[in-house]
Amino acid sequence: MNNKSEALRNLPAVDEVMRVSDISEIRERCTRPQLVGWIREAVARCRQQILCGDDLRSGAAMASIVDDVRRQSQFDVGRTTQAVINATGVLLHTNLGRAPLADRAIARMNEACRYTNVELNLVSGRRSKRGERATRLLSQLSGAEDAVVVNNCAGATMLVLQAIAAGREVIVSRGQLVEIGGGFRLPDVFTAAGVLLREVGTTNRTYLKDYEQAMADSTGAIIRVHRSNFLQSGFVTEPTIEELVAVERPDRVPVIDDLGSGCFHDLSSLGLQEPTVPHSVNVGADLTLFSGDKLFGGPQCGIIVGRRRWIDQLRRSPIMRAVRVDKLTIAALEATTEIHLAGNSVDEIPLLRMMFKSADDIRSACVALCDQLADIEGPEVRVIECESPIGGGSIPGASLPSFGIEISGRGVDRLAASLRMSAPAVQSRVAQDCLVLDLRAVSELELAPLAARLRSELATFSDPA
Ligand SMILES: *Cc1c(COP(=O)(O)O)cnc(C)c1O
Repeated sequence: MNNKSEALRNLPAVDEVMRVSDISEIRERCTRPQLVGWIREAVARCRQQILCGDDLRSGAAMASIVDDVRRQSQFDVGRTTQAVINATGVLLHTNLGRAPLADRAIARMNEACRYTNVELNLVSGRRSKRGERATRLLSQLSGAEDAVVVNNCAGATMLVLQAIAAGREVIVSRGQLVEIGGGFRLPDVFTAAGVLLREVGTTNRTYLKDYEQAMADSTGAIIRVHRSNFLQSGFVTEPTIEELVAVERPDRVPVIDDLGSGCFHDLSSLGLQEPTVPHSVNVGADLTLFSGDKLFGGPQCGIIVGRRRWIDQLRRSPIMRAVRVDKLTIAALEATTEIHLAGNSVDEIPLLRMMFKSADDIRSACVALCDQLADIEGPEVRVIECESPIGGGSIPGASLPSFGIEISGRGVDRLAASLRMSAPAVQSRVAQDCLVLDLRAVSELELAPLAARLRSELATFSDPA
């Protein structure tokens, strides 16, 4: 205890750190306020370490602070779009930007950064519809008559409700009144879209007859919302999309299927069950909504496929213009859709490639990585079995068997922070004094930079335990 308070008392002041010679070199590359900010952060982190029981005597504290400041100066902390190696194992990690794009999509996006024929038909020389080819390919892929693309699936939900059913009732099961995340709650979306919520059934059980009884002159639509971020089990039932589509209803009442995850691939060989977009279209949903950057593995956007008459109605809505996508999204989406259409998704789309990666291959990569770290003195490093969650509002509770590298010992929090704060940044998983790097979501090209980062971090990482 005495040691701790003495260590805290001995923490250097900002001015003292400023005078260290290593710092003056950094000083030349940044502004004074920037440097002061880094020093303050470094001192705060050091204080935290001491409070957590790290025995940092004054010399060690100064060295650790200088090291921390150097790291921060190399790493542009203000930038929010740096390359991050995702060693968390979570395939669709919302904080890491969900799906990584396919090379072909990145190349297409790059081309579109300059002038591009986003609304120009190069054959006729006339104006064309924005994203026309992407929507044609999406219709082909899903089997729907037509499609539109907006900036995300939440925007798609909003647009559909507003354009199709404003001022009227939309029937939804009480078991599906979800919060998607980021505070996007379905009942609030209904209100904002000017639609009246007609809840039916109960939290756990909703029957077809509940929908049938709720049908009235004021009904504008029926919506089904896929449970993509939580599970319900036990005494639970609700009609399937096939059954909902069969509900007797006037021509003006469409069935909307908000799938969210956008699955096009049969995942049963992975032991996963997820409703697919073609299934929803095929059984007769009038409009099907999904995200571009979940299981579809493309750029962030909201895709709506369905019957032409409803899609036309969406196109005429003033909201459409407010939620339209930019040329870069269209470029990446078009390329991603081409890959799906060509049947190459498991080879070319990183998300699917990672999902279908065998646990054995991941284990081999872990063993190879471990071997590259074997000569470094320091904490214990070993290969362990683990689970990679799919994550990101797609298949709740589902995970795939995987392997990772486990680094154990006290101070792994510090190691995790160091790994995060240098280029390329590495995001790992820490639990109970163990740092785990799950390699399922780490691409082959990232293995060498990851090994290099680990070598340099472990070499300076001393395990105080
Ligand atoms: C994820 C999800 C959304 C929101 O999609 P974003 O593209 O993140 O806006 C909407 N509905 C469902 C069912 C979802 O799973």
